[in-house]
Amino acid sequence: MKKYSFVIDVAKCENCNNCFLSCKDEYCGNEWPGYSLPQPLHGQRWMNIKRKERGDFPEIDVAYLPKPCMHCDDAPCIKVARDGAVYKREDGIVIIDPQKAKGQKELVKSCPFGAIWWNEEAQIAQKCTFCAHLLDKGWKKPRCVQSCPTGALSILYVEEEELENLIREDRLETLDTVDSSVLPRCFYKNLYRYSKCFIAGSVASGDDTVSECVEGVKVQLLRDSLVVDSQNTDYFGDFKFDMLSPDGSTYSITIESEKGIKKKIGVKLEKSLFVGTIWI
Ligand code: SF4
Ligand code: SF4
Ligand code: SF4
Repeated sequence: MKKYSFVIDVAKCENCNNCFLSCKDEYCGNEWPGYSLPQPLHGQRWMNIKRKERGDFPEIDVAYLPKPCMHCDDAPCIKVARDGAVYKREDGIVIIDPQKAKGQKELVKSCPFGAIWWNEEAQIAQKCTFCAHLLDKGWKKPRCVQSCPTGALSILYVEEEELENLIREDRLETLDTVDSSVLPRCFYKNLYRYSKCFIAGSVASGDDTVSECVEGVKVQLLRDSLVVDSQNTDYFGDFKFDMLSPDGSTYSITIESEKGIKKKIGVKLEKSLFVGTIWI
């Protein structure tokens, strides 16, 4: 049985909000019987784009994380719902029944990803439907995916075995939850841009008055005296070690030039860091 999943490439999202707006266009003022009541114009973000800045000047980057409902397997929202008000279809899509879910405000807190919103006027919990009403009519993509200009959003409709292969081959990841039994069906590429951190720096020779960037210097990153990664500085004398966990680990960075000059600095990694210019 084929099932749907989202695949979202964090590195391709430019925060244009086309996905968010097309979702609003599809649902605000429109009722899709059996699938959803109208989405309010304000206060709900079924496609919610989160933002994170990493680093310090001059080494800063920004990542955007589009967050729809993850259409989880073993979804907590389904367990909390009374009277079968939230259910999973055979194709993997999780739907909040727009009639049965009336008054069930507790559904909002049941979602570990913050993907359920409360509609005060209609007294109902609401969320992304994966545009099931369109897919059931033969559409190949939900509105948000269709409107994404960079290809950051895509969907899969494949057998579970093929999904597992793709997860492995494309190194797809899901967002962490406290409850590891929750299995989101929204997979991310390049999630490190949002969830991990980096150590960056620059190598130069000379002094504050006359200086030049030094290309090709060997820089090593060590933890517990073991080499974690190694690279050479680029044309601008810069180096950057990425995909590191912000878990407070202590790292050492060693700099070794062709002339044999060696420098060593230590850092504690709790967030992305620019260690400054290292003079050799
Ligand atoms: S992301 Fe939240 S609302 Fe969506 S299926 Fe999972 S638990 Fe339910
Ligand atoms: S799949 Fe449809 S309902 Fe879900 S965020 Fe995209 S446009 Fe909105
Ligand atoms: S449409 Fe695509 S690029 Fe634009 S914000 Fe949404 S996911 Fe990002």
